[in-house]
Amino acid sequence: MLKHLFQGTKWDVPCERCGVVLSKCQCPPPPEPAPAEKKALEPGAQCARIRVEKRPRGKKVTLVEGLSAKDLDALAPRLKALCGAGGTVKDGRLEVQGEHREKIEGELSRAGYKTRRQ
Ligand SMILES: [Zn+2]
Repeated sequence: MLKHLFQGTKWDVPCERCGVVLSKCQCPPPPEPAPAEKKALEPGAQCARIRVEKRPRGKKVTLVEGLSAKDLDALAPRLKALCGAGGTVKDGRLEVQGEHREKIEGELSRAGYKTRRQ
């Protein structure tokens, strides 16, 4: 019954790093390789274009464009809380109700993004 445990199994293969059989290997699991895409999305590699648009009936919205969809999704709740306003991410841009260019610009540059006013 126990015999099969001592027959060749995948645990008898030596570890690529320490050479000890895998059943006794103490190596930490290999780190996840960073996807190439992640690198391209560093805040410093993105330029946020910030502008205020006037809507019918005098309503103003602040628009943030030029950032990746992933970043916009992550930033939206932060920026909305900062401005105390509602907003949405739509068509690759973030819309925050009201005029908050300074606040948004400040927050984005603190987070490492390049910003450009339009
Ligand atoms: Zn090892």
